[in-house]
Amino acid sequence: MKIQPASFNKYLKSISPQIRDTAFPLEKLHLPQLEGIQKDIVLFENTSLEDIKFMSKWFQVLNLARGCREQCTFCLRNALKPLKENSTILWDDLTRFTSGISKLNERLGFNILQGNSHITLFEDANLPVIQIKDSNDEIHSLKDAVKEIYTKLGLPIVFVTAGWNPTDKSSQQNAEELCSYISQNPDCAKEFAVSVNPFHRYNRDFYTSRIANTLKTFLPLYKTGIASILIKYNYPEGKDAQSNGYESAKSLYLEIFEKLKAMTGSSTEEFESLNPEKVTLERDDNYIENKGRGQKFFSLEAVQKNNKKLFVESFQWLTMTPEQKREFAYNYTTKNIDINGQIYLITPSEQMIETQMKLNFVNKDKKTAPIHTDIKFKKLD
Ligand code: SF4
Repeated sequence: MKIQPASFNKYLKSISPQIRDTAFPLEKLHLPQLEGIQKDIVLFENTSLEDIKFMSKWFQVLNLARGCREQCTFCLRNALKPLKENSTILWDDLTRFTSGISKLNERLGFNILQGNSHITLFEDANLPVIQIKDSNDEIHSLKDAVKEIYTKLGLPIVFVTAGWNPTDKSSQQNAEELCSYISQNPDCAKEFAVSVNPFHRYNRDFYTSRIANTLKTFLPLYKTGIASILIKYNYPEGKDAQSNGYESAKSLYLEIFEKLKAMTGSSTEEFESLNPEKVTLERDDNYIENKGRGQKFFSLEAVQKNNKKLFVESFQWLTMTPEQKREFAYNYTTKNIDINGQIYLITPSEQMIETQMKLNFVNKDKKTAPIHTDIKFKKLD
């Protein structure tokens, strides 16, 4: 381990245990006294401690992949199909990220991500189907990625999947290994859900069999109450609500549940989070959102009203000074990392703001697909 200059050690020793244990500890310190402590960590080449502090507050998404083949018609992130090149994080970049943070934590004596409740692993992707390769073209499993993130960063993950084709052996194996790891390490997942909705692109029989197989694969996580069902449907007055509204989603889930019962031969009713009565309760937060592709199911008036609200927000942002922008972004936006190390922000109304900040990933010069935003916000300089 690199020997730290005496001045760092003197300041580090003066930090009280209360500060070490607090949320977002970097903001309680006088950073100029520690600037340089990150210097030989390859991830932070050209990144100041002030930028690391910025990134660590409301750190939310570490994208393992970008783009999604599911193409659900309501997708609020307007997920595009994955790019042929560069749609998945390079394993070397994932470990560069996790090791970089943990090395810095070791030098400081606390976890810089402390105060964040979880790490989401995607913005617009369906993870079981991805293949994470390293620079030697070796494939690493999703389980290995989750283990790496959880053990080195110390935060639980949030994971949602739309399932996979049961005949796709690599996705099936990815999911089975992940299920086994989470079963043995239940604290590593804050939220784990399978999404069910009538906005898919498959024929009904194929879709219900596919989701039933997904639920069967993750059954141990439903048994212990870790996993849940994320069900989404249209508003009663929304466009095509007869085919994509509450009743439609309910009958879809009941069909999936019957297939699951037939597949497992067990009494799945005993698993609370799969129980159709609970899953199909009509709730406001199961309605789709007026965002991304979902907007097509709302009236023109509702879309315009929403866009006007977003326009006001983007205009307020535009009129802020650079200092006010940075302050606002630090306190009120989440910090998300693209697969090329680019840091971007998501506002409280889920709009994307680009930044000039980029971590030193091996793939830092590779282009990625654009991240969706309903309205363009000026970049954070
Ligand atoms: S809703 Fe999820 S599964 Fe569907 S297209 Fe969007 S990211 Fe993919």
